[in-house]
Amino acid sequence: MTTDMINQIANLMRQSKNTVVVTGAGISTEAGIPDFRGQNGIYRQLGEDRVMRIINIDFFKAHPDQFYSFYRQYFKFPDVDPSLAHQMVARFEQEGIIKGVVTQNIDNLHQQAGSRNVIPIHGNAEEFICMNRRCQKIYDHDYITNSTEAVPYCSVCGEIIKPNVVLFGENINNYLGARQLILDARLLIVIGSSLTVYPLAGFVNEFCSIAKDLVIINKGPTQLDYAARYKLDVGENSTGQILEEIYRKLQR
Ligand code: NAD
Repeated sequence: MTTDMINQIANLMRQSKNTVVVTGAGISTEAGIPDFRGQNGIYRQLGEDRVMRIINIDFFKAHPDQFYSFYRQYFKFPDVDPSLAHQMVARFEQEGIIKGVVTQNIDNLHQQAGSRNVIPIHGNAEEFICMNRRCQKIYDHDYITNSTEAVPYCSVCGEIIKPNVVLFGENINNYLGARQLILDARLLIVIGSSLTVYPLAGFVNEFCSIAKDLVIINKGPTQLDYAARYKLDVGENSTGQILEEIYRKLQR
């Protein structure tokens, strides 16, 4: 069953002149970063409503000390390397099999694996940014972890520093670029996303409405399974190995 589907997905990729990959937290679980909704995820541990209330731009502005205390405790990603799945996506791009990646992830692992055309619509958790629009100095993670202040402030202009990630209530990065890359694709491959977070889920929905091929590789159900030409449920298998197997088929 899985082998059949791997063959079919490889065939679609072989025929497509414009394939784009969309990724979510599920592609990074094999690297050791838990997703939010999985068993070890913070939505399960703390409740989705509570988390969404805190990682929100209005909460950040009103209670930066509480925000930072929460962020430091729960948003410190383990120091991990890209997984086989990230490496395979990078190889697909290097060999011209895909055009690029739109990701909801903030862990920078696609870039570390060597992907070049990546649109990280939710930002990059490795960085922090001064909120003064005329300054916008970027700080790395160590600057904040080594800081003894409850709330870090910019060393240049004194304004508050914010994680360089898109909080609830903020616009995503490169909305137009991400939407265009997706809508221009002939084949869209979604890997490790439940497709519940907007606007990305909306872009994928829009893509489906113009009758192109959607492939979903995910552990468990997603919101758009019904619209997919092929839905490959990873189950107990590894997404990295599945992508490697697709790559092998493409070489034949
Ligand atoms: P999600 O949690 O909604 O969905 C992840 C999906 O991946 C789930 O359906 C899960 O079952 C599946 N999955 C888990 N392990 C998998 C595997 N090995 N192979 C394939 N699928 C697997 O994640 P989302 O849709 O990306 O949205 C949640 C939000 O959380 C996003 O906004 C994202 O920015 C943020 N987030 C990012 C990270 C990260 O950067 N690594 C981690 C957690 C959450």
